[in-house]
Amino acid sequence: AGNMAKSKFEYVRQFELDDRCLPNTWIVVRVDGKGFHKFSDSHGYAKPNDERALRLMSRSASAVMDEFKEICVAYGQSDEYSFVFRKEAQAYSRRSSKLATNVCSLFTSAFVYHWSEYFDSAKPQYPPVFDGRTVLYPSDHNMRDYLSWRQADCHINNLYNTTFWALVLKGGLTPHEAEERLKGTLSGDKNEILFSQFGVNYNTEPELYRKGTVLVRRRGPVPLPNGGTRDKSQIFQSNTDLIGEDFWKENSHLLNS
Ligand code: ATP
Ligand code: ATP
Ligand code: MG
Ligand code: MG
Ligand code: MG
Ligand code: MG
Repeated sequence: AGNMAKSKFEYVRQFELDDRCLPNTWIVVRVDGKGFHKFSDSHGYAKPNDERALRLMSRSASAVMDEFKEICVAYGQSDEYSFVFRKEAQAYSRRSSKLATNVCSLFTSAFVYHWSEYFDSAKPQYPPVFDGRTVLYPSDHNMRDYLSWRQADCHINNLYNTTFWALVLKGGLTPHEAEERLKGTLSGDKNEILFSQFGVNYNTEPELYRKGTVLVRRRGPVPLPNGGTRDKSQIFQSNTDLIGEDFWKENSHLLNS
């Protein structure tokens, strides 16, 4: 209630520092699972990629975008998701810790809330933890490079993990031997091992694994009861490339605002 008189303790509020983000700047909040190497093991994630887990991550990210309408695009891979707020975003007066903690907390609770829709158990064995951070990007170029960085990371890790697990699960190597085999190899070498030893063409692996997941908010047609359609702002999910120009041409509204 707002009718409380100020107590003599009130001054301690002055110890809180102003952490408002610079105006007119892209705000990115990234969440990442804590110790998910272990969490994925103890919950029987398929190696190298558990599709259920990736879909649960994107379900949780959609819950965040439903709540925070100023998030225009999000990108996820492995145990992480990045949320890009429009440059003009005003949520929580752009207070950095408010943004990071609210996004991170909603993401984590949605991950647990929706768990049973993706896994054959009512809830995880122990409460999962995600960290969250806020990073500012002053130019469109910087923001695009940020997303390219995360997608390049997805590619590098997935090529390594796909080859590593092929050597272990199909090639009969121990994890230590597989690690030794891959030491110092370049992308081309890993592609070659996959193809010549296991008949796997890396480029035909699912895009969900190679590219990660993009959630973009844009207007599009939704069906009406009368059979027609109406344009409405919605979240579109894809496993597309963010590094080239095509995505940004198809979604020019993201940059021209
Ligand atoms: P904000 O998002 O700004 O924090 P808020 O609605 O959470 O908004 P608070 O000032 O944090 O506002 O107050 C929390 C409110 O939640 C209380 O005013 C009360 O109405 C309700 N509430 C919290 N805990 C309890 C409880 N144990 N029993 C009954 N009501 C509670
Ligand atoms: P930290 O707390 O420092 O983030 P971490 O163990 O979570 O440590 P990350 O670098 O974040 O390390 O890597 C996440 C790990 O979680 C991956 O290396 C992989 O082992 C596992 N993992 C995450 N998502 C999946 C998935 N969908 N399928 C299989 N394994 C996954
Ligand atoms: Mg990490
Ligand atoms: Mg992690
Ligand atoms: Mg990670
Ligand atoms: Mg409250």
